[in-house]
Amino acid sequence: MSRPVPNPGILDIAPYTPGKSPVPVPGQKVFKLSANETPFGPSPRAREAFAASAAHLEDYPEGSARVLRDAIGRAYGLDPDRIVCGAGSDEILNLLAHAYLQPGDEAISTTHGFLVYPIATLANGAKNVVAPETDFTADVDAILARVTPRTRLVWLANPNNPTGTYLPFDEVKRLRAGLPAHVVLVLDAAYSDFVSRNDYEIGIELVATTENTVMTHTFSKIHGLAALRIGWMFGPANIVDAINRIRGPFNVSTPAMVAAAAAIADADHVRMSREHNEKWRDWMTDELTRLGLTVTPSVGNFILIHFPTTGGKTSADADAFLTQRGLVLRALNNYGLPHALRMTIGTEEANVLVRDALRDFMARP
Ligand SMILES: *Cc1c(COP(=O)(O)O)cnc(C)c1O
Repeated sequence: MSRPVPNPGILDIAPYTPGKSPVPVPGQKVFKLSANETPFGPSPRAREAFAASAAHLEDYPEGSARVLRDAIGRAYGLDPDRIVCGAGSDEILNLLAHAYLQPGDEAISTTHGFLVYPIATLANGAKNVVAPETDFTADVDAILARVTPRTRLVWLANPNNPTGTYLPFDEVKRLRAGLPAHVVLVLDAAYSDFVSRNDYEIGIELVATTENTVMTHTFSKIHGLAALRIGWMFGPANIVDAINRIRGPFNVSTPAMVAAAAAIADADHVRMSREHNEKWRDWMTDELTRLGLTVTPSVGNFILIHFPTTGGKTSADADAFLTQRGLVLRALNNYGLPHALRMTIGTEEANVLVRDALRDFMARP
């Protein structure tokens, strides 16, 4: 060997391509609707807590993120000892893979699952096993059919990004019941705050009553703190113990933990965001359907818009057309969805502009 070679699996990873960051056109207002960020920003209380933390940047953070675990515990009625915080839920997902996967193991995700899962799987030398979906929705039978003696972990975003679909809690429980006890089931609840379906549950009961299920969550979406990189997991004592042994001793910064603790306590801000999202998600879905486009019904803060595959009306044509108007959506080629764009629900102004642009796009010769 003439130069260092990374571990098995690493060079099989297709590098993650984030949503485009808008390219400014002079004099044009730009709307970034490509990364599922909130149009409102965080709670003002979170900004204040963040700003106040600037007075003590010389001090290491409190290593267990105690203030934040207590705040999350209060908001969800959870034992803070069963919570681990991380630098975004991305860190938590990678720590879970690191703790439970090794070369030769298999982890299952679904066709249009979140792309961080295969990265975390391959980075630990394990095999990424893909279970097909039905109607852009995770299929419990398809996942169970792919379990082998080597399966160690199952990734499930509920709701899923980028499809916006979800599994009712009965289905999640059926998945858990069908998996061997030694398989970790990761329920990624990044978008749970946007769901208002009475057959949906975030998974707390399942985590609390099993030793093999974890729920992960983030402050990047409804709480508007994506820039701070802050997420968390709720898990059984055995998994929490394993993750605490391998995480960095100061993996969460003080500004992030105090801002997140303030954000989760601001129930009014969360409620306002949820109501805005629900209203405009339904409006966008109706309006775009009326234009002849197909929109996958979403329970998240984004919608998946399917375009024709020919005739100057493709998703690539639409992407270019929208970008010219300063409307930046997310192309999904690397998610196996080359004919769709994902749009994050924005402000009223942004939503109406997208509707108007797509009306012009569909009407042009
Ligand atoms: C946005 C998102 C996350 C959040 O990731 P962070 O690292 O916490 O910003 C997690 N899972 C899914 C499915 C997401 O879309």
